Amino acid sequence: MHHLETPSETWSEQAVRGYELNAWSICPRKCWFLQRQLVMEPHSPYVELGRLVHQQALEPSPHAENAYTEVPIENFARVDKIAGELVFEIKRSPRKSEAHRLQLLYYLYLLRERGLELKGVLYYPQQNRRETVELDAEGLASLQRALNAVQQLRQQPLPPHVPKPLSICRTCAYQELCWCEEETP
Ligand code: SF4
Repeated sequence: MHHLETPSETWSEQAVRGYELNAWSICPRKCWFLQRQLVMEPHSPYVELGRLVHQQALEPSPHAENAYTEVPIENFARVDKIAGELVFEIKRSPRKSEAHRLQLLYYLYLLRERGLELKGVLYYPQQNRRETVELDAEGLASLQRALNAVQQLRQQPLPPHVPKPLSICRTCAYQELCWCEEETP
């Protein structure tokens, strides 16, 4: 079995969080802000909407296969549901599916390190869409790259420069920190 290098704990005495990987995959600058607790995200309507979808999916359902219970991994990660050999991660929209995939790969890795060899399912209830995610050699390699990059960002005194607005900036809660009015995407 492959083992990833454990992220250094010197930066904050904490292991890398799934949301750091998710943010890094979307925009490293966003990840840098999140790491420093510039938490404007909770006020974003998109974050609120995501939370609502999540909540609805987690609500008890008369159909057992649709009922979700969050499962903590020690005190720093939380997967949405483990059912048999499957780990579910619930998201609002597949638009950022690469970021979701990375986050789920990390959870699969953390579970594997704890003796559980499982497969992942990205579930988008609004689209009734499911994608299988496996922690194979390719998945491990991309996870290692992302963990290294996230760890590097933790050491970086300034946020990474983004030369021009990205399409994602339009829905990002850090927009005002990154772009002045005339540059608003
Ligand atoms: S506004 Fe754009 S550049 Fe700034 S953190 Fe968000 S996604 Fe990144």
